[in-house]
Amino acid sequence: MRRKLGLRLCEAALVAFFLISSLLLPLASADTKRLLQAIEEASSSCKAVSEKIFEFKELGGQEFKSSALLKEELTKLGFNVKGDLSVPADLVQGGIAKTAFKAEMMGKGPGPTITIMLEYDALKNGHACGHNLIAGSGLLAAAGLAKLMKELPGRLLVIGTPDEERGSLGGGKIALLEGGHFEGTDAVLITHGADRWSVDQRLLAMKRATFTFKGKAAHAAAAPHKGISALDAVILTFNATDMLREHVRQDVRIHGIVKKGGDAVNIVPELAEAEFAVRALDTATMEQAYARVVNCAKAAELATGATLEFKEPRTALKAPVVVPEFVDIVAAQMQSIGIPKEQILDFSEFASSDLGNVGYSFPTVNVWFKVAPMGTALHSDAFREAAGSEEGWKGAVMAAKVVALSAYDLLTHPEKVEKIKARFKELKEKEGK
Ligand SMILES: [Zn+2]
Repeated sequence: MRRKLGLRLCEAALVAFFLISSLLLPLASADTKRLLQAIEEASSSCKAVSEKIFEFKELGGQEFKSSALLKEELTKLGFNVKGDLSVPADLVQGGIAKTAFKAEMMGKGPGPTITIMLEYDALKNGHACGHNLIAGSGLLAAAGLAKLMKELPGRLLVIGTPDEERGSLGGGKIALLEGGHFEGTDAVLITHGADRWSVDQRLLAMKRATFTFKGKAAHAAAAPHKGISALDAVILTFNATDMLREHVRQDVRIHGIVKKGGDAVNIVPELAEAEFAVRALDTATMEQAYARVVNCAKAAELATGATLEFKEPRTALKAPVVVPEFVDIVAAQMQSIGIPKEQILDFSEFASSDLGNVGYSFPTVNVWFKVAPMGTALHSDAFREAAGSEEGWKGAVMAAKVVALSAYDLLTHPEKVEKIKARFKELKEKEGK
């Protein structure tokens, strides 16, 4: 009797367990289980790639070994890989982006095109921005998706985007965008290591300005009245922009350096030069503030009589147009792999990246994943150590899962992609640019 009761209790517990788990885990479909398993299986080979890139530590535009390695791995996975991408010659010398590449894998029929971007350039102090993990995690996501792609609708693109750290010069993503290499993309995913998990997409739009003033040399003591000080014009530009700073939105950043200030103390400076960067959380506000900074330099020209030489730069960094519906999809996948909602945090400080230009052209989400203790700054030696650590790779594997699951969700739900695209268009028009 006791035994029978025990058995019944066991049965009841089992039934309850299956009922509860089927209610709690309706999302863990056979496909997503296979996807996650494929990622686990490919993890050690992608880790080796990330470690090699960490050791190569190639600077922007010189990532020859890193890009060759990634191309080789993608080819092994069955992607159709193309290097030496043609881009505008005024952005990349010779008009060929030699360390960029584009890898393509077709699904079983028509559907959305999802693009995963990889970065792999280092800084002077090595991979202190952890781009080795961006490459490793993106490759791992692609490896997982490659296993399923033949059964899925749509197309998967993996684009290798070099030279991120000098992105404002236009040799990285801007050149690839202008070269048409993102053509046909519906949504873009990328990862980046950080001191936290985050889906905060904010980046500062940024444009540089170089002001060169030409004055007139004269003896600084014997004949100052015959001279025109170019340095005065530079100083006036700084003073005027300092006044402007009080009357711009809080997120606007204006910062400058003096590049030339004269040759000798006894000569009225004939040539002086300053370089500024102007930033804001949206592209339109940045452009407005930028125009006012240029006016400060023009006012200095008028006041001093020095001649201003100024040319708008060829490229600027834009702020992404953030689609909340897309961000929500990625945030849900972060939670589905076990990141608690309260550990997905926003940022309070922002930088600029050519990622913003991609996010201004296509709906884009960057998956920030935790590799370092809270408060560890990007570009620091401590962050470099984290990017080369076991913990760092653990974070990269989780980020790969988030990217792959999000891409799978989009590939299998074209209606979600259409909604994201429509919202993107609407929000971009609202921004007024
Ligand atoms: Zn970075």
